[in-house]
Amino acid sequence: MFEKRRPGAVLFDRDGTLIRDVPYNGDPARVEPMPGAVEALGRLRRADVPVAVVTNQSGVAKGLLSPDEMDQVNAKVEELLGPFDAWAICVHDDADGCTCRKPAPGLVIRAAAVLDVSPRDCVVVGDIGRDMEAARAAGARGILVPTLVTLQEEIQQAAEVADDLTDVVDRVLSDAEAPVGAVSAPWARAMGWSRW
Ligand SMILES: [Mg+2]
Ligand SMILES: [Zn+2]
Repeated sequence: MFEKRRPGAVLFDRDGTLIRDVPYNGDPARVEPMPGAVEALGRLRRADVPVAVVTNQSGVAKGLLSPDEMDQVNAKVEELLGPFDAWAICVHDDADGCTCRKPAPGLVIRAAAVLDVSPRDCVVVGDIGRDMEAARAAGARGILVPTLVTLQEEIQQAAEVADDLTDVVDRVLSDAEAPVGAVSAPWARAMGWSRW
């Protein structure tokens, strides 16, 4: 009963969470890890916790970024931060009405499915309200790491707020009584994705 409950996976937002947010960036040379990202990921990997990326890339739908450029940026992310166990990417825009673009839960559910864990056993880490809404909708535990662009309202509404990625990993690896997702989403299994 008091056994430490390790998460099934930790799913990270990319821009503003793992790397500095450079809007619609297609240039690998501009990829810069956020403070503590390398260390945080290293601790999770050493603890055998799968790590994944769940990222909105609407620049592709907008034509501001080619899929190839996006792939090159993601390759640079792995070069700097190490390999991820899964990538779930939404390349749509709001008007597409897809089921994957955060705040929809599709990316979280898809990453969990690829990793063969329940979304309810996942932690979602992000810098804005959309990330936290996606976590909540999927039944996952959301942890907000605010940056300068995070709105006060998003901080107030977050179920859990961490100072930085070091704090996130401290919480994830030590919280025996971590809140587990209270929302179940049985409909989620039926959802489809065009790219992940
Ligand atoms: Mg972000
Ligand atoms: Zn999408």
